[in-house]
Amino acid sequence: MSRRILRPASLLPRSSLTTWSSRATATSSKAWTCAVNSQHARRIHARANEYLPTNLPEWNESQRGVREAIAKICSQYTDEYWMEKDTEHKFPWELYNDLAANGWLGICLPEEYGGSGLGISEAAVMLQTISESGACMNGASSVHMNIFGLEPVAKFGTKEQKERWLVPLIQGKERACFGVTEPNTGLDTLRLQSIATKHGDHYRIKGSKVFISTAQVAEKILLLVRTAPFDANKPSHGLSLFYTDLDRSQVQITEIPKMGRSAVDTNTLFFEDWKVPTEDLVGQEGEGFKMIMHGMNAERILVGAEALGIGYAALRRTSHYVNERVVFGNPIGKYQGIQHPLAECWMNLESARLMIYLAGRMYDDGYTDGEYANAGKFLASESAFKAAERAIMSHGGMGYAKEYHVERYLREATLSRIAPVSGEMIKNYIGQKVLGLPKSY
Ligand SMILES: Cc1cc2nc3c(=O)[nH]c(=O)nc-3n(C[C@H](O)[C@H](O)[C@H](O)COP(=O)(O)OP(=O)(O)OC[C@H]3O[C@@H](n4cnc5c(N)ncnc54)[C@H](O)[C@@H]3O)c2cc1C
Repeated sequence: MSRRILRPASLLPRSSLTTWSSRATATSSKAWTCAVNSQHARRIHARANEYLPTNLPEWNESQRGVREAIAKICSQYTDEYWMEKDTEHKFPWELYNDLAANGWLGICLPEEYGGSGLGISEAAVMLQTISESGACMNGASSVHMNIFGLEPVAKFGTKEQKERWLVPLIQGKERACFGVTEPNTGLDTLRLQSIATKHGDHYRIKGSKVFISTAQVAEKILLLVRTAPFDANKPSHGLSLFYTDLDRSQVQITEIPKMGRSAVDTNTLFFEDWKVPTEDLVGQEGEGFKMIMHGMNAERILVGAEALGIGYAALRRTSHYVNERVVFGNPIGKYQGIQHPLAECWMNLESARLMIYLAGRMYDDGYTDGEYANAGKFLASESAFKAAERAIMSHGGMGYAKEYHVERYLREATLSRIAPVSGEMIKNYIGQKVLGLPKSY
C-alpha cells in the first residue's frame, strides 16, 4: 500500500512543501515500524494532558509533519481567543489568514492549482489539530469548506473551471460555502426542490436553502439544485451542481442564531430568479448528486476528526483541572468516580481515532464504500460528546462557568452528532449495507 510522506512542514521553507510531498513515498507500515523503534518499548505515546502531541500511534511521518506544523500555528490562538470569537460571533480571520499564508488551504487539492496534493489522512490530522487546540468547530469550520468542499470541482470540473476556481480558493482570496440542505426536505436530499431552468447562456434558479455555513463571508457557493422533476424510478438523477458567485443582489441571506460554533455563521438563503451562467455548471447536467456523493465519505472522515479534536481538548483541560482541584483533602482526580469515566473517555476516543484514520487511509487508497467513514464519524462524535460532558461534570460548578471553556466544548461537540449526517442515518446505513437488513423509510 503506497502512502505519501510529508517532511514536517515546520522544517521546510513553504515553497518546498508541495514539491517534496509529491516526490516522497514510503509504506505506512515502514513509517509505523520506525516510529515504534524510535521509542522506548513501554513509553506511553502521548499523555492526555499534553498539548497537541505528535507521536500518536497509527500516524505516519507525513501525518506527524502536518500535526507539528499546524500545532505551531494553532498555539498562537488560545482558548481565550476562541471564547471571544464565539461570544462576539466574529469570524476567526487571523487563523484563517495564517493558514492561507502558510499554504494549508490547498492541503488535499491538486498541486497544479497551488495545492499540496496530499490525502484525506493528512487533511484529517490538520482539522483534528485545529479543533484540538481549543478552537473546536469554530476553528475547523472556518476552513473546512476550503479544505475539502471543492473536491467535486477538482474531480469533475474542466481545466478552465479548476484554474478559475481552485487557484483563488487555495490562495485564500475566495471562500466557498456549501448549499445542499433545504427547509422542506432535510436529510432526504434526493427530494430537494430548488429548481434551475436553462435560458440560453444562463440558468434561472428559484428556491431556498437552510443551514448554509459561512454564507456571510463566502464569495462563492457550491450549489445542488434540481434541473429535472423528481423521478421515483431514477431518484438520484435530475440534480445538478453549480459553483457560482454568491451574489447578494440576487440571494437573500439571513443568519440563524444558534447554540454553538458562533464564530462561524449559518444561514437561510432565498432566491426567486437567481441568474447563474451556464459555464458555472460542474460536470453534466442531472449528475450533481453523484458528484456530491463522491465527497461524502471524505466529509464524514474530516468531521469525525474535528469531533475527536474536541474530545481530546476536553480531556486535556480536565486532566489538568482534576489534578489540581483539592476537595476532601485530595486532588479530585484521585477519586475513582472522577478518574474512571475519564479513562473510559480516552479509550473511546482512541478507538474512534483508529477507525477514523483507518477510514482515511482506505479512502486515500481508493476505497469507495462508506461503512468505515460513517462508523468512524459516528464513534468520534459520540465519544467527543461524552468526553465534553464528563469534562463539565468533573469540573463541578466551574464546568458550567464559561471561564473554563468546557461548556463551549460541549456545545460544539453537539454539532457533529447532527451534521452533515445524523447518527440515526448512519445506523440506517450500517443496518442496510453491512447487516443486510431492510430499509425502514
Ligand atoms: C450548525 C449547522 C451547520 C450546517 N451547515 C450546513 C452547510 O453548510 N450546508 C448544508 O447544506 N447543510 C448544512 N447543515 C445542515 C445539516 O447537514 C442538516 O441539519 C443535517 O443533515 C440534518 O438535516 P435536518 O436538520 O433537515 O434534519 P431532518 O432531516 O429534519 O431530521 C430530523 C431528525 O430526524 C431523524 N431522521 C430523519 N429521517 C430518519 C430516518 N429515515 N430514520 C431515522 N431517523 C431519521 C434525523 O436523524 C434527525 O434526528 C448544517 C447544520 C447545522 C446545524
